[in-house]
Amino acid sequence: VLRVAIVGGAGRMGQTMAAALSQEPGLNVTALVDTRRPEALWGATWSSSLDGLDGAVDVVVDFTNVEVARSTISWCLDHQVPAVIGTSGFTVPELDALRARVDVVKGNVIIASNFSVGAVLAERFAAMAAPHFERVEIIELHHDKKIDAPSGTSLAAARAIAAARAGAGLGSIEDTTEVETSPHARGAEGLGGVRVHSVRLPGLIAHQEVIFGRLGEGLTIRHDSFDRSSFVGGVSLAVRAVGERPGLTVGLSELI
Ligand code: NAD
Repeated sequence: VLRVAIVGGAGRMGQTMAAALSQEPGLNVTALVDTRRPEALWGATWSSSLDGLDGAVDVVVDFTNVEVARSTISWCLDHQVPAVIGTSGFTVPELDALRARVDVVKGNVIIASNFSVGAVLAERFAAMAAPHFERVEIIELHHDKKIDAPSGTSLAAARAIAAARAGAGLGSIEDTTEVETSPHARGAEGLGGVRVHSVRLPGLIAHQEVIFGRLGEGLTIRHDSFDRSSFVGGVSLAVRAVGERPGLTVGLSELI
């Protein structure tokens, strides 16, 4: 049985994961780590930091913010505990630096900005479509409590699309807009010139549309997470796999 600690265990994702993973065979959620008291413990203990948990956990899961996730990763690398990081907001240069660091200390880390199977497939389909369309833009829609924008999922999709375009010999997308009357009206510029637009509204969870255009036709690839339970399957998969995957794994694609 794998003993799992969840950092951010009092948060929206932490509580969802604690409730679901504690019911799964082969997993035992033993610790919820959070600076505030979790509403429900689901059989785990509550502590305010990972210190003191070495030797007592087999996998650490983190759903917090980038700053906290950085120290979670450091703790895991120092104590040789595999880590599954769901916190979003890591930049590509930071992931590259982290990959080198993880390799040096022979750690096991999985970082995925989206643990839902549908989102992983949506990114894959977007990469398939990318070489066939001149233009593409992304609209990502999330709940109004999300602290980072654009979403990690949308930036990962922009990266995958840019890579697929580059692989097909297509250049960066040139935006013909000359006058942006209101700043950022054209969204944020992701990798390869892929524009990303962020919508924040109460009631939403996590949604995304990748909109392709070419002469006379369009293609929209849409994914919806209606509920945080959509992330459980992917986190469970990553928790079970991370011990067998040396190095840094970015995204769930290789696991599905
Ligand atoms: P949240 O604000 O509800 O939860 C974050 C928790 O972290 C809070 O309980 C907070 O008290 C805790 N925290 C803050 N500082 C801490 C510290 N020093 N030590 C321990 N805990 C600390 O946020 P959320 O909606 O649960 O989202 C958390 C992260 O997960 C965000 O980055 C979000 O984008 C990401 N997310 C990822 C996925 C995915 O599939 N990968 C899905 C949804 C959300």
